[in-house]
Amino acid sequence: HGDSADYDAEVKSICPFCGVGCQVSMKVKDNKIKYVDGINGPANEGRLCVKGRFGFDYIHHPHRLTKPLIRRDDAPDKGLNVDPANPWTHFREATWDEALEKAAHGLVDLRSYYGGKSVAGFGSAKCTNEEAYLFQKLIRQGFGHNNVDHCTRLCHASSVAALMENVGSGAVTAGFNEIENAEVAIVIGANPTENHPVAATYFKQFAKDGGQLIVIDPRAQTLRRYASHMLQFRPGTDVALLNAIMNVIVEEKLYDRQYIEGFTEGFFEFRDHIRAFTPERMSEICGIDPDTIRDVARTYAGAARAMIFWGMGISQHIHGTDNARCLISLALLCGQIGRPGTGLHPLRGQNNVQGASDAGLIPHVMPNYQSVTDPEVRALFRHIWGGTEIDATPGMTVVEIIDAIYRGEIRGMYILGENPAMSDPDVEHARKALAQLDHLVVQDIFLTETANFADVILPAAAFPEKNGTVTNTNRQVQMGRKAISPPGDARPDWELLVELANRIGLDWDYDGPRSVFDEMKMSMRNLHHITWNRVENEGSVTYPANSKDDPGQSVMFGDGFPRRAGRAKFTPARVTPPAEAPNDEYPMILITGRQLEHWHTGAMTRRSAVLDDIEPEANCSLHPATLRKMGVAPGGHVRLSTRRGSVEIMARADRSVAEDCVFLPFAFVEAAANVLTNPTLDPWGKIPEFKYSAVRVDPAETS
Ligand code: SF4
Repeated sequence: HGDSADYDAEVKSICPFCGVGCQVSMKVKDNKIKYVDGINGPANEGRLCVKGRFGFDYIHHPHRLTKPLIRRDDAPDKGLNVDPANPWTHFREATWDEALEKAAHGLVDLRSYYGGKSVAGFGSAKCTNEEAYLFQKLIRQGFGHNNVDHCTRLCHASSVAALMENVGSGAVTAGFNEIENAEVAIVIGANPTENHPVAATYFKQFAKDGGQLIVIDPRAQTLRRYASHMLQFRPGTDVALLNAIMNVIVEEKLYDRQYIEGFTEGFFEFRDHIRAFTPERMSEICGIDPDTIRDVARTYAGAARAMIFWGMGISQHIHGTDNARCLISLALLCGQIGRPGTGLHPLRGQNNVQGASDAGLIPHVMPNYQSVTDPEVRALFRHIWGGTEIDATPGMTVVEIIDAIYRGEIRGMYILGENPAMSDPDVEHARKALAQLDHLVVQDIFLTETANFADVILPAAAFPEKNGTVTNTNRQVQMGRKAISPPGDARPDWELLVELANRIGLDWDYDGPRSVFDEMKMSMRNLHHITWNRVENEGSVTYPANSKDDPGQSVMFGDGFPRRAGRAKFTPARVTPPAEAPNDEYPMILITGRQLEHWHTGAMTRRSAVLDDIEPEANCSLHPATLRKMGVAPGGHVRLSTRRGSVEIMARADRSVAEDCVFLPFAFVEAAANVLTNPTLDPWGKIPEFKYSAVRVDPAETS
């Protein structure tokens, strides 16, 4: 940090990393961000984590794309073989006009020869709301179908499926700051100190102030130090454990009868279903003793106000939707929704995954979660979009699109700010699919692993180089502001989307993100009473807002739910085993996730000097006893093998990991976690089982 002499300008904006949505002040000099401070946003009150405070220098990295690139005619075969510092054997520089023409013509040719469904799109939760809206509009209007998706599919798709089904809305029912008003909070399948660090500070404060924090996770994570209860259960047994907790609440009649009668449906079937899941029986599956299960049930049900927070540990399973259904049922049983200090909160990952989902970057819903199968919804968008017919068939999801490339149904893609060559399960399968595409347009700030497979690469502005709104995990719509100019010829994503749309035959006329936001308001009830000016002037407005002066409602559904008769629903869940079981060949369990310093596929944070200095090497975590048994010292190397592939990686000793498990972060291309992961999907959310693969761990030859 320095003093005001160190910078010429201060620009207030939002951290570009996680869904907490911390507000920042960027100190700028000579078109460079010198340093970043936290400011008093509603989600952070001046706090920042290491990524928000020190991780901004990725934007000045020499690998930034500064010119449009076109694959050379004499380039080697497509593969993961491009050096981002020296891409010239594969790509050549082009003018914007040439690159945009080539990008557009490749897609239009496929549309002409094979039909619009031969082209699919992945948009980005790292872009603004306006850019997410434009991306889904470009695919739907330009190609006549709904094969458009983004990383929410790999993140909270199952949570959203369960929330939409049972509550009628896919967003959180209460902001995380509401924990200040709670007596009890459950944090399950989430590791907020690493993944939502500033939100975690509120959780810790809650515990210090006397709140009871119940942490439920297969890893005995840092938050356990603040917990009244730490339940380190067996991976993949969430439904067994949660049903057992609800069994106690039902059998001991600890539920809120008045709330159930007034606000829910399906209770009696649910009650009959849950009676089979006794703590004694479920204990054998989940590994938590019956007395602890009873204690947790009584603690949650006995609270005047209680909240539930969850993360990918709940959602990334083939039973992810069932897991989330259980959490919803638990809250409904005890009437813990709709009042201050109560609620359901899936902690959102990317900085704008909430906003991108709201904006319709999802294959089965238009903006504001309006179903493509609803004729009135299609009529609304036909009207707003100048006569465009919306396809009534829900589109394919991320993993389904990759599979459709193998079938020859999809031959071209437009990928904006996503990195499926790192993020998809069984990633070698995804990489081979990308290599098969006839035409791939990638728009990004770096030559990502996915850009290795591109025919045309469009260099984009990074988040601090453009204006636009983003929506955080708390439903707070906030303003991202341009602090510096993009390097070289790089341009904001919204501009490139408009250029491309007009070159594929659409007639778009937007003069900036504000005009896109105004169009979004025409179809998005969430944005009622929220204007660009309000977000600009007030810094943050939460949806829903009840009037033009209302800062927005942190807590929703106090007077009923957006479902039939205003009632939420109990949906019973059965115990389903993970898609693959450990056996003699693959005897252990692989759990993938993030770690504090690195963000997702590492494209940004591995190019941030401070963050990469702290965590420079690919690593996995194993229990010290497991390492001892293998004869590997901490810091030595192991080989992890699954039915999909294997990687060699440095091993850390970590007592928080169970002896039969290994934890593997997915940010490191040199030991890519997703080479190992299982692509089997949850049937409702279509999310892969990133949190459970059968794995073999051996000493590496280099150990
Ligand atoms: Fe950024 Fe999230 Fe850290 Fe806040 S908690 S500074 S939003 S990464």
